[in-house]
Amino acid sequence: MLIRWQNVLIKMEGKMKMKIYAKKVGICTLKEGVTLEYIRKRYPDAIQIDHIPTEEDLKEWHNEGGGCEAIDGCWVDPDGQCEHGYDSWLVALGWI
Ligand SMILES: [Zn+2]
Repeated sequence: MLIRWQNVLIKMEGKMKMKIYAKKVGICTLKEGVTLEYIRKRYPDAIQIDHIPTEEDLKEWHNEGGGCEAIDGCWVDPDGQCEHGYDSWLVALGWI
């Protein structure tokens, strides 16, 4: 039973549309079947996005000293960039 469920989950994952972020295009949802590798040929800095921060996240970050997570999960200034060259979420979302 366990193995069957795993197969189902793998299939679901394959069908879920992936969200990515690249500087030139911002946050966008990939069409079904488009892989990150494919997108990276055109936008080498493209990174997969697992989650977009919620208002709760932002409040928490504010309470933690006013920093902000970068797209790749690094901790940066709200208007900053991490050492890997990724913008903070606030910049990526166009909020500042
Ligand atoms: Zn980083």
